[in-house]
Amino acid sequence: MNARKLIALGGLAVGAWGLGKVINGLLPTSFDLTTWHGKQPTTSTPDASTLPEVTISFLRCGSITLPELIAVRGSLSLAPRVIAHSAVLIRHPQATFLYDTGLSSDIQLYLADRTLFFRKTLGNFTFEQSLSDHLLQHNLKRTDLAFALLSHLHWDHVSGVPDLPGVPLRVNRVEYEAAHYTIFAQHGGLTRQLLGNNPIECFDCTGPAYESFRSSLDLFGDGSIVLVPLPGHTAGNTGMFINRSNGPRIFLLGDAVWVAENYLIPATMHPFIWSRVTGDDATARQTLLDLHHFALAHPEIPMIAMHDAHLQDAFAALSPGLNEITTT
Ligand SMILES: [Zn+2]
Repeated sequence: MNARKLIALGGLAVGAWGLGKVINGLLPTSFDLTTWHGKQPTTSTPDASTLPEVTISFLRCGSITLPELIAVRGSLSLAPRVIAHSAVLIRHPQATFLYDTGLSSDIQLYLADRTLFFRKTLGNFTFEQSLSDHLLQHNLKRTDLAFALLSHLHWDHVSGVPDLPGVPLRVNRVEYEAAHYTIFAQHGGLTRQLLGNNPIECFDCTGPAYESFRSSLDLFGDGSIVLVPLPGHTAGNTGMFINRSNGPRIFLLGDAVWVAENYLIPATMHPFIWSRVTGDDATARQTLLDLHHFALAHPEIPMIAMHDAHLQDAFAALSPGLNEITTT
């Protein structure tokens, strides 16, 4: 066989391998859903009359629109899906605080020095409204915020911190310690730069099992704000149950999924994205399964991820009185 034939054969093999990867990436995620003997709920539904009033407002700062087949592995749909960059403003009688932080007004300054690949992929979004503008609309100064609780430390969840100088940042200790070996070294130290000099206050989910999750932290000791570990996406990705007297329970998922289909089917994102954003594949898939079975058991609880623009908009539309801007 001469050299030209060898090169042609090599090219064919590489092409077939590449085509195989593309086709494989479109196939459904494989999960065994036939049996489930996971942890049974350990808590009963909280008595709403004993809970405080808590208001919840999603603050959307930016977005990127992708075909569904990227957000949901196994979907062959090209329908547009909006991936949001959001914070959540939570007003509890004991504290007004944020869950994640959206985007700061000068986020583009922080992204300007990153690689072209980063800026054209993960760092590519349409800026809509800064966190500081949202706070202004809600008649809040940053000093009115008791703290910002970060679901995890990926750059796109701490990107609003530059608008919050001095505001304490609450982080799962598992996440903060793991980040020293992983996230803090990524993208040229972007997360470290965004965190600035804000005080870090680590918390531990060392309370009892909660619902079907292994452990918890009851943030105010009144059963209203309960944190649970949802690991895999990162080591300490942390979800938040909000139980209240003035509206339905809600379960915030951090970045355990992008959109509801990820836990409903369940399905990862397209492997091109999943492999780049997932810290521990096996643990993240186990969390997907846990969320899948929780969703089946609790269809009444909105389970909303921090990038899920559709569910965030739907929640705001269903609860207009709870999302309206405070004018007093
Ligand atoms: Zn993330």
